[in-house]
Amino acid sequence: MPTIPAELLNKIGVVLEIVVAVLAALTVAFWIAMAIWTLRDIRTRTADVFAWVLATVLVAILGPIGLLLYVLLRPKETLAAVYDRQLEEEALLRDITTRQACPSCQAVTEPEWLICPHCRAELRHTCNACGKLLELNWSACPFCTTPVAGARPAGSGRVPQVKPIEPAAQPTAS
Ligand SMILES: [Zn+2]
Ligand SMILES: [Zn+2]
Repeated sequence: MPTIPAELLNKIGVVLEIVVAVLAALTVAFWIAMAIWTLRDIRTRTADVFAWVLATVLVAILGPIGLLLYVLLRPKETLAAVYDRQLEEEALLRDITTRQACPSCQAVTEPEWLICPHCRAELRHTCNACGKLLELNWSACPFCTTPVAGARPAGSGRVPQVKPIEPAAQPTAS
């Protein structure tokens, strides 16, 4: 077996040292990047500062295993997704509340309807001056300020005598 000169051994040692140093630096950089990614990710998912610290420390200490644990345990939805979902739910709720029930027969009615198509109960009337739709409990038109003759309080649920509705009284584009 040929002997390796001491000089060559030294060179190999230096090269190995450099390789180890580079690998160590890369590992440290990767480790730090995982911790930073975790901090960024947890911040999009919760406003709890304690959770931020916990998740970041977990990944900083355990590295890839901590990251795996974090991904398994983190909140499923981001705050943006939660916000979007809440907006959707509110819009849905608003849609439901604007579709009021007929005070007389409880059938679902549209906001533009003047009478209930099922029981003919009066739901709204039109302004004598501008023709816009007025709620039954309004005492004046909010569009043209004309006072409403014979306004009555809200929620009385009276079934009025059926009165003809002239086509000319339909509202203009709102
Ligand atoms: Zn009705
Ligand atoms: Zn009016």
